[in-house]
Amino acid sequence: MASNVLDQILGRSAPGVIDEIVRIAEIPAPTSHERERAKFVHGRLDEIGGWDDLAMDSLSNVVAVRRGQAGRARLLLCAHLDTVFPDSATPVRRERGRLVGRGVGDNSTGVAAMLAVADAVQRAKPRGIGDLIFVANVGEEGRGDLRGVRRVVKDYAADFDAMYAIEGHALNRIQTHGVASLRYEVSVATEGGHSWHAYGRTNAIALLARAIVALEPLMPSPTATPKTTMNVGVIRGGRSVNTVAPDATFELDIRSVEPANVDRLLRTARTAMRQALGGEAELTMKRIGNRPGGVVPPTAAVIRAALHARKGLGLPEPEMNAGSTDANAAVAAGYPATCIGVTTGGEMHAEGEWISTKPIREGVIFVGRTIVGAASMTPQAIRQ
Ligand SMILES: [Zn+2]
Repeated sequence: MASNVLDQILGRSAPGVIDEIVRIAEIPAPTSHERERAKFVHGRLDEIGGWDDLAMDSLSNVVAVRRGQAGRARLLLCAHLDTVFPDSATPVRRERGRLVGRGVGDNSTGVAAMLAVADAVQRAKPRGIGDLIFVANVGEEGRGDLRGVRRVVKDYAADFDAMYAIEGHALNRIQTHGVASLRYEVSVATEGGHSWHAYGRTNAIALLARAIVALEPLMPSPTATPKTTMNVGVIRGGRSVNTVAPDATFELDIRSVEPANVDRLLRTARTAMRQALGGEAELTMKRIGNRPGGVVPPTAAVIRAALHARKGLGLPEPEMNAGSTDANAAVAAGYPATCIGVTTGGEMHAEGEWISTKPIREGVIFVGRTIVGAASMTPQAIRQ
């Protein structure tokens, strides 16, 4: 049976996947600078071969199209290329049962698993499945604002019925809510001047600090439901130690599983910050991110396909969670979509990021079975 052949190929691929994760992770790919990593992935897909189309678009999204049987579900399968780390030092350490390094799980593991499944499908040639569009996309993290996947969803709008995002860390989580988020750059500008000669003028850093302090009482409780968060993530400003700061900026991130909460909290925050400034300077807010949200019910076919694959492999009950992944863009555009994972690990977005290597074998089989299971359905069935 084709699915057994697929399992066998994927099972044997695990050591190769681990090496591939290291190779991918060691190619720097900060958001907006993914081109080198994209070229590597394009090269790997080219080696696998047999595609009906293989292309890289102007954003450096890499897309490989495999035509399947008409009348079966067509799937978009995305793994993001970019990492949150701004510079290029990306060494990976191999420890007992672990890989440790920046972006090793998020999302080098997702990309490597996507390549392993692409390779296995081309070799096993499972019958009775619809088109598969494999994508390694840019711009998922931070200020990338899902711009890579948004472009792919738009360009291939008529060519797929459902979407899966593949993330390295999320083996035991399945995304049911796409967390909506808004991101703003909040700035204060003043005249500034010499810290001695112009002493007494309004200091933009001091004013901005006041605005930030005014946000504190508005921060939602970590245990509130629906979960809603507000974070001050980056702060910068000023010219030198002996200058009355003429400018200061911080970046604000507001998220919720309930999209309406995001807008409400933003309005409250804006009012509180303006009041805190007491008219001493203008507060400007520039939107730098707007991630759409939406809900996919746990009973949706895309999720049932993943649960069915887990059951067959004896994987534990997953945590059904709210996430902010490439799946959000597809959900917001009206497609059923979720995010599935490959292994477990920790310290995502931190210097000590790590993944466990042992679950990778089952993880790639899980991803492969989910995809083949979903692509075997009819287009009507996968949309339910
Ligand atoms: Zn990620």
